[in-house]
Amino acid sequence: MKRLLIIHTGGTIAMSEDAKTGAVKPNPLNPLHETIHTVENIDLIVEDFLNVPSPHMTPKDMLHLAKRIDKRVMEEKIDGVVVTHGTDTLEETAYMLDLIVETDLPVVITGAMRSSNELGSDGPHNLLSAIKTAASGEARGKGVLVVLNDEIHTAKNVTKTHTSNIATFQSPQYGPIGIVSKRGVHFHHHPVTDQRFVVSGIYKRVLLLKAVAGMEAEVVDSLCELPIDGLVIEALGQGNLPPATIPSFERFIEKGIPIVLVSRCFNGVVQDTYGYEGGGKELKNMGMIFTNGLNGQKARLKLMVALEKTSDRERLQEIFQR
Ligand code: ASP
Repeated sequence: MKRLLIIHTGGTIAMSEDAKTGAVKPNPLNPLHETIHTVENIDLIVEDFLNVPSPHMTPKDMLHLAKRIDKRVMEEKIDGVVVTHGTDTLEETAYMLDLIVETDLPVVITGAMRSSNELGSDGPHNLLSAIKTAASGEARGKGVLVVLNDEIHTAKNVTKTHTSNIATFQSPQYGPIGIVSKRGVHFHHHPVTDQRFVVSGIYKRVLLLKAVAGMEAEVVDSLCELPIDGLVIEALGQGNLPPATIPSFERFIEKGIPIVLVSRCFNGVVQDTYGYEGGGKELKNMGMIFTNGLNGQKARLKLMVALEKTSDRERLQEIFQR
């Protein structure tokens, strides 16, 4: 019989809707304890780690969660881990765990778009699908997986794409790597796993900034005064920026603050294609670090983690190219 550890952290999956006000709020006791406590042939150990809406999660909470997972799988006989989480920052926690959890046992994260007492509540079904996935031998060695709405996604590629639809989680460009059906778990792709970093703390401050047409240089200048260790820019298209901002971004690099470039486009990678003012070629020559398809929120976490290991530009470029 497989033994899985279920770690609850909160989110809509653990919340209820107030019939009078319509407000969706956390419960003192997680309703999932009542709905799913046994699954045929799987022994479930349940831990209430947190009970927070996911906008309250911080990178430090994510680190504590990762350490907790590693501690429990070291100390007990466990075959896989399922984490329940709010959907707003689920992709960030999933990716952070993907970067720093040491175990290669299956770690699967799930959540819900409708709270526990709403009609068509998707929480119990998603939790069951996540349990099936974590219990499947095939989930091992695929990095942290995100399971909702019968689909299995990698932590690296998945993102929340809709504010309320239950099919919100998608992996732009790549799609899911498997599905969960009534009969079982079916993988149809093997992901290229990301790097792992062994970190004891997350201390670096990294800012995420979105580029827009006519972006003001003064805004960028004022950010350069902040005590930050790194900057991620969601650049335009293939990796271009408004020319008026270039001298301001140069100041970051002169101060030794690394700048990582992602695209604000939903699909594709950034590259040094354009040779005009503010184009990718100029940005690369300035020393900006180009990424390989990560979105802004994940690149921020990766830079936080990577900066715990190195601040060398060449090394950071290698880390972000993978
Ligand atoms: N706002 C909620 C949260 O992230 C949304 C959800 O869980 O679906 O906690």
